[in-house]
Amino acid sequence: MRIDILTLFPEMCERVVSESIIGRARKSGKVEIVCTNIRDFAGNKHNKVDDTPYGGGMGMIMSAEPIYNCYKSLYGENEEKPYLIYLSPKGETFTQKRAVELSKKERIVLLCGHYEGVDQRVIDKIVDEELSLGDYVLTGGELPALTVADAVCRMLPGVLSDDLCFEEESHFSGLLEYPQYTKPAVWREQEVPEVLLSGNHAKINDWRKIQSLLLTMKKRPDMLSAEDLSEADKKLLKKNDFELT
Ligand code: SAM
Repeated sequence: MRIDILTLFPEMCERVVSESIIGRARKSGKVEIVCTNIRDFAGNKHNKVDDTPYGGGMGMIMSAEPIYNCYKSLYGENEEKPYLIYLSPKGETFTQKRAVELSKKERIVLLCGHYEGVDQRVIDKIVDEELSLGDYVLTGGELPALTVADAVCRMLPGVLSDDLCFEEESHFSGLLEYPQYTKPAVWREQEVPEVLLSGNHAKINDWRKIQSLLLTMKKRPDMLSAEDLSEADKKLLKKNDFELT
């Protein structure tokens, strides 16, 4: 998969995608991530990429033409137009489900706005989808773009050691993940739940499923309510007597 990030701050993006798991995935060719500076497409003597808003008001608006030319530079005349996502607080909220869908595409382009935003005409002309990180406003689209890139990349084949690494995690199957523990078995008088030391994998799996169900109902009733439980899950909860941790 290839991910392009169109930004006024390519060094900021490059730095993040060069580190840790995503950095290793790039080095080993499991994903290609290219950060392109929109300013390189300013097309004027002073490399100006923004201007004052028509109608008055605060701040500066990113001009349409540099963004348009930057995007156009990514593909040839006869090539298919790559799927363009504009990171925007006006977009659909980004979810794990959308990350899974995007991870199946061969290429995505992430457009980062800055200042007061982007001239609407270029959004209307080239953008396929707007995605928001949540109901708040950030100074730029770089952190949202890096968030989308990270969430998508970690599900690409071979990026994590096993698909189970993300399939059992929060949100993948509509539940929050069960609590996790590591050594030592007793830490400051707090013990790891006994079942996790039992070596009985069937019991451990049941315990984890129950914890996931209870935790999701408690912390995110919008994701799961008692009425939504399947018959199998109801049976599992009834059969066992685990404390919610
Ligand atoms: N004036 C815009 C508005 O009220 O909707 C906000 C502009 S914001 C200060 C500058 C840029 O940051 C946006 O163009 C967008 O790319 C990015 N941005 C800010 N908040 C975001 C969010 N919640 N999700 C995704 N992108 C965001």
